[in-house]
Amino acid sequence: MSTTYRICLLPGDGIGPEITAEAVKVLGAIGAREGVGFEFAEALLGGIAIDETGTALPDATLEAAHAADAVLLAAIGGPKWDTTDPDKPRPEQGLLGIRKALGLYANLRPVKLFAPLAGASTLKPEALEGVDMLIVRELTGGLYFGERAREYDVPEAGVGGAAGQRAYDTMEYREFEVERIARVAFEAARTRRGRVHSVDKANVLESSRMWREVVHALHAAEFGDVELVDQLVDNTAMQLIRWPAQFDVVVTENMFGDILSDEASMLTGSLGMLASASLGDGTALYEPSHGSAPDIAGQGIANPLAMLLSVELMLRHSFAMHDAADALSSAIEGVLAEGWRTRDIADEETPAERVVDTAAMGDLVAGRLGRA
Ligand code: NAD
Repeated sequence: MSTTYRICLLPGDGIGPEITAEAVKVLGAIGAREGVGFEFAEALLGGIAIDETGTALPDATLEAAHAADAVLLAAIGGPKWDTTDPDKPRPEQGLLGIRKALGLYANLRPVKLFAPLAGASTLKPEALEGVDMLIVRELTGGLYFGERAREYDVPEAGVGGAAGQRAYDTMEYREFEVERIARVAFEAARTRRGRVHSVDKANVLESSRMWREVVHALHAAEFGDVELVDQLVDNTAMQLIRWPAQFDVVVTENMFGDILSDEASMLTGSLGMLASASLGDGTALYEPSHGSAPDIAGQGIANPLAMLLSVELMLRHSFAMHDAADALSSAIEGVLAEGWRTRDIADEETPAERVVDTAAMGDLVAGRLGRA
């Protein structure tokens, strides 16, 4: 009997439905090629969920997500639902709510340079040669979730002993939180080039010293085949620009990962090409890094490639279909190498007849998968 994977689709708002249609098309081609089935359950999230049910994350959506083998989210939000009224529902509540409900503690963001798009980066093409890294960011701990407070009228806090304010945030990690994110990184490295950079600030921070010890203990116990490199976060920020090809997998705490992944995203030069995976102990969620692009919604010109790269991540991490994921990646690369572009990644050298719409880009990728 052939395998069937159940995918919960959350098209969301703006260009979401348009790029979701291309993901379904491409998954059809992959299913046919690999002899597996994909079953889709579509659910509401974000603005459209607010319009239809009054809440950004309906219970039925959570049930569909929990019941699925993986969740594929396009994008949510738009000016229609922008509000400063704290009593009104907001699309982002759907996104944060589903991440929390699924316990997604590991955020994976691959930064891969597609050679035909090398000119899109602000860095020199020779500095970008061989860039292909995966940033593994801890997503539910650290500075963003630690104890915080702001106090007013604190005595003798201001200049000259006057009362002033005091504020603090706490970077806290438990051993198990570090171990589980390090495990994700080591396991990912085994399917890639076998190297992990563990990024911390162990020369200053106690939480980083524990981070380093835990990562090394796990490495010694279970992942001796993977190369482990410790790097201080300030050095990593510099190395990402100096010699980005040295990185295979980078694992780091929540805030460091937030900052470094934005820095690294600029190596590719294009928002329309970045995918992400959020993993926990249960169902994982995959989504492009861009938003709902309300300015171009409904025009059929959105770039579906970040969504298709999110499908690649889903094949790898939820279904262990590494050959299919490689084939999808090659198909995208092949289409770009032939010069095909959606409008956002076209430049003045792109001939008009090579600028295609959303559906045509999906057809080109699906067609290559079918031919292979
Ligand atoms: P955005 O990423 O939606 O758009 C920024 C610019 O990039 C726009 O000019 C847009 O047309 C373009 N763009 C984005 N994706 C594209 C694609 N696939 N193809 C072609 N062009 C693309 O960011 P924004 O304008 O700041 O936000 C718009 C809405 O999206 C807001 O409501 C915001 O809250 C929401 N948002 C959602 C997510 C998410 O769902 N994860 C992430 C970021 C922003």
